[in-house]
Amino acid sequence: MAMNQENGNKVKNLDQWIGRKTNVSVLSREQLDAYQLDCLKKTLDRAYLSSSYYHKKFSTNPVNWLSSLPGLRELPFTTEKDLRMAPMDFLAISPKNVKKIVTLKTSGTTGASKRIFFSEADLQLTVDFFENGMGIFTQAGDRVLVLLPGTVPGSIGHLLKQALENLGAEAFIYGVVDDAKVVSKLILQEKITGIVGIPRQLLAVSQQDEATAIKTAGHLRTVLLSTDYVSPAISRRLHDSWGVQVYEHYGSTEMGYGGGVFCPAKIGYHLREADLYFEIIDPQSGLVVPDGQWGEVVFTTLSRQAMPLIRYRTGDFGRFIPDQCPCGTTLKTLSRISGRQKNLVQLDGQTFLNLSDLEDLIFSQNQLLDFSVALEEGTESETALALKLVFSDLSVHREKVMTALKKKIAELTDFKVQIKIDEGDLAQVDQKAMRKERIVDRRNE
Ligand SMILES: [Zn+2]
Repeated sequence: MAMNQENGNKVKNLDQWIGRKTNVSVLSREQLDAYQLDCLKKTLDRAYLSSSYYHKKFSTNPVNWLSSLPGLRELPFTTEKDLRMAPMDFLAISPKNVKKIVTLKTSGTTGASKRIFFSEADLQLTVDFFENGMGIFTQAGDRVLVLLPGTVPGSIGHLLKQALENLGAEAFIYGVVDDAKVVSKLILQEKITGIVGIPRQLLAVSQQDEATAIKTAGHLRTVLLSTDYVSPAISRRLHDSWGVQVYEHYGSTEMGYGGGVFCPAKIGYHLREADLYFEIIDPQSGLVVPDGQWGEVVFTTLSRQAMPLIRYRTGDFGRFIPDQCPCGTTLKTLSRISGRQKNLVQLDGQTFLNLSDLEDLIFSQNQLLDFSVALEEGTESETALALKLVFSDLSVHREKVMTALKKKIAELTDFKVQIKIDEGDLAQVDQKAMRKERIVDRRNE
């Protein structure tokens, strides 16, 4: 894509943002590394001295020996399980200074919830990142519809609203989509110029009758998808239905909501390097892989007060893109996430099924809106893949779509799996879930 001068200038936003924090006008990689090392030392010192979890985990204060960013590799990982076991042990500030607690329920039937703590300063750093990230494609006077939870102070939508208001834009906080029709009408009525939301939900909104009117009116220009994995098919369909530019954001609550965002070149996520240090590791050996190779995304917080996280394993698969982005950023660029570890289901010893592969196949069918998937014990084979499909249009040839899809899914794996396809509706496929569901495994029930 051709980068015009305007974009070229705007994209520098994230670099300028970090430049301001490091007191330089033009950010170089060396300056950024030096800044990160300084922040890392402060974080490790705080973690060792104030968090009982890290005090136990580190035999000595790492600040005594850490002299470079790669030195961090000497330290052990933190996992989701560690967080669930003893969330309070991670706390590095007095509980009375905790401003926001996010409780993340695990989707399994057992296991404690994860709890993530934020101080007021932590939340303001998120607003700061949102403001500069959204600033890449948002201007004063824009009207942005936020389809994320936002009624409670400190929630993602609430912080986004602050960031948008700082940019001079108006924020309409709707929350997660409970009625695609209502949201579709709202976009027209309120002359919305930008939307932030969850991919599968936005897809449902974009397939309503108002799509043509929205496209013709032309006020809706950008959509930001916020999630861990975005099927490229969804981005394409949103672009086609509404005629919008589709940007993507990568982040999680553990990262302090924000992790990285697309620039107009859309080659990957330019990372939030003022607040986070990212590594890509081989999930088996735990060793850092060379830049450009695929692996598991690991991050360390650089500025968080309430709950510093050191080498936190995300379970997301990605890679650093070594090529220079046309926007000229100094920041590292993370590829689109190719899936999550917990979305891989073992069919037999060597064969795995990846939910994101299924998503790409299903969402590339223009007639389909959403789906749910489960593995069951089959009647003709050991395993049956049970799909419920939600169709977007009453007049489509369902049988034809189902047969074609069955064939494509069968080609995904050489493992003999029976494929059962039924129709479902939006209420049955957990549309309101913030995160995409896993492949439910009912084989041993
Ligand atoms: Zn770029």
